[in-house]
Amino acid sequence: MKGVTVVNHPLVQHNLTRLRDKRTGPQEFRRVLGEVASLMLYEATRSFAVTSVSVQTPLAPARGFKLQREVVLVPVLRAGLGMLDSILQLIPHARVGFIGLKREETTLRAMFYHKSLPAQLGRFEVILIDPMLATGGSAVAAMDLMTELGAKHVRLVNLVAAPEGIHRVRQYYPNLPIFTAAIDRKLNDKGYILPGLGDAGDRLFGV
Ligand code: URA
Repeated sequence: MKGVTVVNHPLVQHNLTRLRDKRTGPQEFRRVLGEVASLMLYEATRSFAVTSVSVQTPLAPARGFKLQREVVLVPVLRAGLGMLDSILQLIPHARVGFIGLKREETTLRAMFYHKSLPAQLGRFEVILIDPMLATGGSAVAAMDLMTELGAKHVRLVNLVAAPEGIHRVRQYYPNLPIFTAAIDRKLNDKGYILPGLGDAGDRLFGV
């Protein structure tokens, strides 16, 4: 699928399988999700824009690179929190925004219950983090908000995506790069991904 990178590195796939396994409890789930997030991030940041710089080593001048833009990580609450810490270990200078969304009971539309994002979002490389891309409703709502705030360089990092979610995101944001470890079969009638891994927030936090 255009613009969708399925990260099929053996370590990612090994860890994804442990996350799918219903015998994996919250403690191990948290650890493994953190590990897999680092591996996903490596792939997702491969195309970050860089600027050439020169530095002086103790022996001679050397050419090098620095990131062109500051980075902001935006986990979607609550499951996105499970990928945040390990990504922050790799990009400790990143800022962190948060987006909290819930489904409005009568209309089933995604409603914000929390949003905190830096001003001038267009200056940043934004990594939107949500382990599960299910209906795509949260991703599109998050993108709508960030686009209103001027975001220009956004990539979406998931762990498991449903074809329905990818199509929905593509419909509104055809050029948004999406990184996932798997594209699963479909959604069930409650909006869960099959086979998926269950409710990622529940698996992470045990409630
Ligand atoms: N959110 C989850 O945590 N799991 C799904 O399968 C779908 C949405």
